[in-house]
Amino acid sequence: MSEHCIRPGELCYAGPMARIEYIDDNRTMTPHVSKPRLEIRETPQKGRGLFAGQRIRRGHLIIEMHGNRYSSADLPPELFATQIGPDLWLASDGSSLDDLINHSCEPNAGFVTGEAILFALRDIEPGEEITWDYSTSIDEPGWRLKCLCRSSRCRQVVLPWRELSAEERNRLRPIALHYLRQARSKSR
Ligand SMILES: [Zn+2]
Repeated sequence: MSEHCIRPGELCYAGPMARIEYIDDNRTMTPHVSKPRLEIRETPQKGRGLFAGQRIRRGHLIIEMHGNRYSSADLPPELFATQIGPDLWLASDGSSLDDLINHSCEPNAGFVTGEAILFALRDIEPGEEITWDYSTSIDEPGWRLKCLCRSSRCRQVVLPWRELSAEERNRLRPIALHYLRQARSKSR
């Protein structure tokens, strides 16, 4: 659970003993390592998505983000990319399951340990789509995504972390990547 976990060339996992405060109800959650069955399916509006192929219990690992590492300047535009550091992106050609996970403003998965690994934020039923909040990873100035999540909390346009309100950042901090949690005092 320390910042050394985000550095070029390595992804590490804090381990099942890491304890975190869950965002909505302040219950303490102990992340568990598991290998749930996941399925690719078509969604009505968002193209392909990743779905639970079995029940995934709250606090259980869903998937690690995979890819090659690039700086912002070197990032090939055709790749599926997720920002994981101030100038560090994980990107792949779309062949990795984590490339298919759609955004939601009310996600059922999040980076509860601060590393680029998604854990279930609540019990997820078989057939439910897996989603995470892209603002908990991306901090690229000017980045925008029109949101189709339809949740009651939908922000309509998904913004980079630095452009969220202080209230939104506080709400999302427990499921954001380490580098964003630590940027607290530098941003507005
Ligand atoms: Zn939304």
